[in-house]
Amino acid sequence: MKIALCPGSFDPVTIGHVDIISRTAKMFDKVIVVVMTNYHKPDRSFSSEERVDFLKRCTANMENVEIEAYTGLLAHYATIKGAITVVKGLRAVSDFEDEFQQALTNKKLNPELETIFLIASAENMFLSSSVVKQVCKFGGDISAFVPEEVRDDIIKRLKGKEAQT
Ligand code: ADP
Repeated sequence: MKIALCPGSFDPVTIGHVDIISRTAKMFDKVIVVVMTNYHKPDRSFSSEERVDFLKRCTANMENVEIEAYTGLLAHYATIKGAITVVKGLRAVSDFEDEFQQALTNKKLNPELETIFLIASAENMFLSSSVVKQVCKFGGDISAFVPEEVRDDIIKRLKGKEAQT
């Protein structure tokens, strides 16, 4: 069975993430979406449980997709899960340097592990979790940025957070 990992912070999930997950699901027998903490972005807006829950709801129609949270090294998790590939989305040149470094580090830690990059769909090139949070913070409409299944919960949570600060 060919297993791929789709790692990320997903803070929160966007339609860009779901696009990469569904495209990966068509190419592999099983996809494990791994909710992680980005070392460069340790402050999260959503808890790990919330991020997992949102992803589960957005991928409920994808039979070969599982969602899990992991706090260790991705290269080790791949060995535990028997995954052969990491699949990541690439939006722009700005993503490249960091992704390149991560892919080479993972290869050093786990030589069996390949990283594959899928080019983001043209309509999602601009989209990130930060854009969602920024637009929502200033009262903008995020309907086109996040999956419908979780849109209201994301707005409620981001607005609630705003009220506290
Ligand atoms: P991280 O915080 O580790 O960068 P993200 O949750 O932002 O993780 O992203 C997870 C993965 O999804 C990364 O491979 C990223 O490049 C990809 N990704 C993020 N946004 C998009 C998008 N709009 N289109 C395609 N891929 C995306």
